[in-house]
Amino acid sequence: MIASFKGFASYALNLAFPSSCVHCGREGELLCHTCIAESTAVPANVCRKCAESLTKAGTCARCIAERSSLDRLYGSYMYDSPVGSAIKAFKFDDIRALGPVLGSLFNTEGLLRSEADLVVPVPLHSSRVRSRGYNQSELFRQLSARRLGVDFLSGVLIRAHSTVPQTEQPTAVARQRSLAGAFEVGSGKPGSAAGDVVGRWILLVDDVTTGSTAKSCASVLKSAGADWVGVAALAVQPIGGFK
Ligand SMILES: [Zn+2]
Ligand SMILES: [Zn+2]
Repeated sequence: MIASFKGFASYALNLAFPSSCVHCGREGELLCHTCIAESTAVPANVCRKCAESLTKAGTCARCIAERSSLDRLYGSYMYDSPVGSAIKAFKFDDIRALGPVLGSLFNTEGLLRSEADLVVPVPLHSSRVRSRGYNQSELFRQLSARRLGVDFLSGVLIRAHSTVPQTEQPTAVARQRSLAGAFEVGSGKPGSAAGDVVGRWILLVDDVTTGSTAKSCASVLKSAGADWVGVAALAVQPIGGFK
């Protein structure tokens, strides 16, 4: 009786929320094992600040020339892979059940190796949080629930004005321009005083990064007194990947 009720419940649940892979459509899981296995991890030979492909690990000429405020970029996967599709489905189709799946794919090795003492989400403008019902802080919440022994604090950075998503900006110049003045160190709200960042080693968390947003955040945080700023993202889209 109980078994058959369970069977019915799972059948009904599947009717209401069919589980098929958001990338390949195979039934079973929201992101199947094959698609996860086929997703490209960020290779070792990339720029440590922007993930641009290099012949050996180091810092690319552009990051050196622009004296990037960002100290380090840790990415788990390349955006141009099934994991990237799952992030799009999570954000734009609002498939919230992907939150824990994506949270579990987030490679925390960089986060732990970075010696950061404070982990902060890259903030989304409140108008976008409302309009899409989505907040990338869900990933942040998933990560903080893993109890990694580091302080997780939101509200440290706030978005000063709304910007078009970085992945929709046509050129690197457009991305940089759209980000000028986009972020501020939070103040006047509990747990978000500017004093929080002085002398801190701060790791930003984002779902997808091109590096541009993280660089803007890093420069704001460094101006406010942070010693070191890195970013850990689930997926990386190097700027050179934009055509
Ligand atoms: Zn699949
Ligand atoms: Zn670079």
